[in-house]
Amino acid sequence: MLTKTKIYLSSPHMGGSEQKFVNQAFDTNWIAPLGPNVDGFENDIKSYLGDNNEVAVLSSGTAAIHLALQLLDVSGGDEVLCQSFTFSASANPILYQGATPVFIDSEPDTWNMSPELLEIAIKDRIEKYKKPKAIIAVHLYGMPYKAKEINEIAKKYNIPVVEDSAEALGSTYFNQACGALSDIGILSFNGNKIITTSGGGALITKNIELKNKAVFLSTQARDNAPHYQHSSVGFNYRMSNVLAGIGRGQMEVIDDRVEARRNNYNYYKDNLSNINTISFLDEPEGFFSNRWITCIKTNSYELREEIRLALQQDDIESRPLWKPMHMQPIFKDCLSYTDGTSENLFKNGLCLPSGSNLTQNDLDRVLNIIKNTPNS
Ligand SMILES: *Cc1c(COP(=O)(O)O)cnc(C)c1O
Repeated sequence: MLTKTKIYLSSPHMGGSEQKFVNQAFDTNWIAPLGPNVDGFENDIKSYLGDNNEVAVLSSGTAAIHLALQLLDVSGGDEVLCQSFTFSASANPILYQGATPVFIDSEPDTWNMSPELLEIAIKDRIEKYKKPKAIIAVHLYGMPYKAKEINEIAKKYNIPVVEDSAEALGSTYFNQACGALSDIGILSFNGNKIITTSGGGALITKNIELKNKAVFLSTQARDNAPHYQHSSVGFNYRMSNVLAGIGRGQMEVIDDRVEARRNNYNYYKDNLSNINTISFLDEPEGFFSNRWITCIKTNSYELREEIRLALQQDDIESRPLWKPMHMQPIFKDCLSYTDGTSENLFKNGLCLPSGSNLTQNDLDRVLNIIKNTPNS
């Protein structure tokens, strides 16, 4: 019997050299959260993003956001403004710090943080409580947010921006690399991201002292003494030298990965262009998305579900767009500034299989099902 293979949303895609670097770690016994692969991977990311950036590789993107908030002195009683339309890992570290998230809705051009709602929220919080301590903006699905507008507002009120670039390695904004557009950026190398170390992340900053402090905090905050001495709270967040070896191999193929994901997007879009109940998110002028995930927007919840269930029937993974944080049970008591944009995306939108390792046959299997869904 001929069985069809399952098609995943976004699966790991090794380039070929990863095992060589992992073997080097074994051969030299650098089986530790430091070593040549950690340094090498940091240098690879640095050259990729631009040499004026400093990079600390960590155990996860979530850890990177947590350290970023720690570096910015976010603590109990503080409010942090966070994009609502995102994955929960953007917002959870606010709670780790004992601070309070305030959620900001998206705008329709990029599906990311609305600069207008951001400024309304800042003014309102200053008037009713105090100035928010930080802003967390997200390049969701690889599409850059409106960095110029967000940075201008942040500067006007002197509030630092944490740039959640977990999904946007390889994306650029007016030719500048995402992850390096603000005070502190973060990347993720989780298994589903555009490149992976199985699990991992990085913190990006232009300030070498901040980088050194991030490394210090991520390795248990040991003071300079022969014995173990600590004058601040440390974390065990550094990346393993074994996993950094995977990262070095992956950095050799990052350009191919971006190209393949963009080709997926273009192929889906070209082949669905005559269905007027389905639409795509185009890049505004100057915005370059790595197209980590190809998303479609349908004209109704019913059509979205019809497509999702038809794909599931054929063992093809798809998923509704992120459920906004202001709608999540865990954040139900949090303040939010919304206008319905992300609620509507959540209701009607669907993520399609988008891995860089999809075959032509895989893409056509997905397309055939969507085209044959009665209401599309
Ligand atoms: C994946 C992701 C994170 C978290 O990264 P991990 O490496 O999985 O901890 C944070 N924010 C966004 C938007 C993500 O997609």
